[in-house]
Amino acid sequence: MRIIGVTPSINDQTGNITVNQDYLDMVFRAGAAPVVLPLTDDKEALDAMLARVDGLLLTGGADVDPARYGEEKLPCCGENAPRRDETEFYLCRRALEKDMPLLAVCRGLQVLNCALGGTLYQDIETQFGGDLKHPCYDQPKEQVHFVELEEGTKLLSVTGVKRQKVNSRHHQAIKDLAPGLIVNARTEDGLIEGAEMPGKKFAVGVQWHPESLSDRIPEAQALMNAFAVACGGNE
Ligand code: MN
Repeated sequence: MRIIGVTPSINDQTGNITVNQDYLDMVFRAGAAPVVLPLTDDKEALDAMLARVDGLLLTGGADVDPARYGEEKLPCCGENAPRRDETEFYLCRRALEKDMPLLAVCRGLQVLNCALGGTLYQDIETQFGGDLKHPCYDQPKEQVHFVELEEGTKLLSVTGVKRQKVNSRHHQAIKDLAPGLIVNARTEDGLIEGAEMPGKKFAVGVQWHPESLSDRIPEAQALMNAFAVACGGNE
């Protein structure tokens, strides 16, 4: 069974790392085995961990430190997680170098974009505006707005649904897309809700949370299933 490395959140007060069980269940449903990867700046240890997994799942969580994309932190930016940034930026870049399959969810998409030189809106409402409410933290599993998938993308080809209604638990989003990425989903008001890297086996990011939908929404689980197949399926 293929093994998928899953990155955790860290609570600075308690020191505990946590992963929402929904991510792990989505991986199990795809016939793969998740393992949670510890956070560290020890690159040798991170390389050793990556060498033993078949794919990398970057999960949601705290805001990326704006210094990572060359900006001053504004009051509208939320809490950061420096140790997590250090871990995930390295894992993300190394996975892409090795062409190891990568699925990036929410903060994971933002890490993917920033690791490759892109930037973020530090707060959508303050810096982008738009017609939609994105920080719907009290409705984690509710499909609150639509996204339109772009033709010719991996995301559309593996989910097969051009217009999807998704959940939304973010207050940041991609501002400048990194070189090498293409947009795979947008809202009707033009906000980027997903990006991917063409030419890779599987390097796909979405701003919503498929793990919170995948127990009942087929296209959400289809994304995970395609990721698991890219990782080697059930060989
Ligand atoms: Mn959204």
